[in-house]
Amino acid sequence: MKRLIPGIIFSLFLVGCAEPEQRSFAPADRNFAMDMVRKQCAIVPRHSGSPGAVKTAEFILKTARSMKGVSARIDTFTEDTPTGKITFRNVIVELPGKGKPVIIGAHYDAKKLSLAPDFQAANDGGSGVAVLLTVMKTLTSLEKPLPFPVHFIFFDGEECQEEYGPGDGLHGSRKAAKDYAGKARAMILADMVGDDNWHISVPENCSPELKKIVFQAAKDLNLQNHVEQSSMQVLDDHVPFFDAGIPAVNLIDFDYGPDNAYWHTAYDTIDKIDPESLGKTADLILKILAVMEKNSFGN
Ligand SMILES: [Zn+2]
Repeated sequence: MKRLIPGIIFSLFLVGCAEPEQRSFAPADRNFAMDMVRKQCAIVPRHSGSPGAVKTAEFILKTARSMKGVSARIDTFTEDTPTGKITFRNVIVELPGKGKPVIIGAHYDAKKLSLAPDFQAANDGGSGVAVLLTVMKTLTSLEKPLPFPVHFIFFDGEECQEEYGPGDGLHGSRKAAKDYAGKARAMILADMVGDDNWHISVPENCSPELKKIVFQAAKDLNLQNHVEQSSMQVLDDHVPFFDAGIPAVNLIDFDYGPDNAYWHTAYDTIDKIDPESLGKTADLILKILAVMEKNSFGN
């Protein structure tokens, strides 16, 4: 009996000082993710400026608009490239919330390969887009939405025509980073995340405060053996955001087939994609958002 009163006081004390709980999400929809890659692979070729790229942007827009509470649009702009003027289209999908948004990005354009006119770009292009749409599916069906806005940006023009430089490659992310400078909480990029040997590396040139959250999230999901820090610098769509002072991180699996042989080749096809890898990447991004919410990241 004597212990009861201190017990009650103790539990009241605990309730009073309890840290906010970190939310957990149901596992992301693997079948939906796979279907999203399949639908993109049916559109070939889809390099920037091609009718396939326009069709892909419209497919993403239509899929996003079928979800609850989103506002989606295409941002069209024309830039000079080494092969002439190209009109690019970023697809931007906004989920509402308070304060600055977290941006989640992936490129949808495919590398233009003269040797592979029907290039599927299942992993390098297809997988990132599929993961974003899958994360969007979870976030738009929540009973309690995230407190901050989430903006999904599907970049055009990631792939260079000839060689990466100020007028070649990263067109969509450079445009978006300029528009979002000073106006975003963080940027998370997913690229080449779909092969069956799922191993995410976080390049060296990412923001330390976000890396910390990524590794915390991976640990929470018991995926820490598959998500690691790399000493490599990677030039990808996160770099313009990083350079614009927005905390940015890249989730990339830059090891695709023996000696990376499937990368930018006709071998980058739908049969290399594992729904489980897409699902784990979506789970990881959702967990990162949950950690950000709990830590009030960027508030
Ligand atoms: Zn590529």
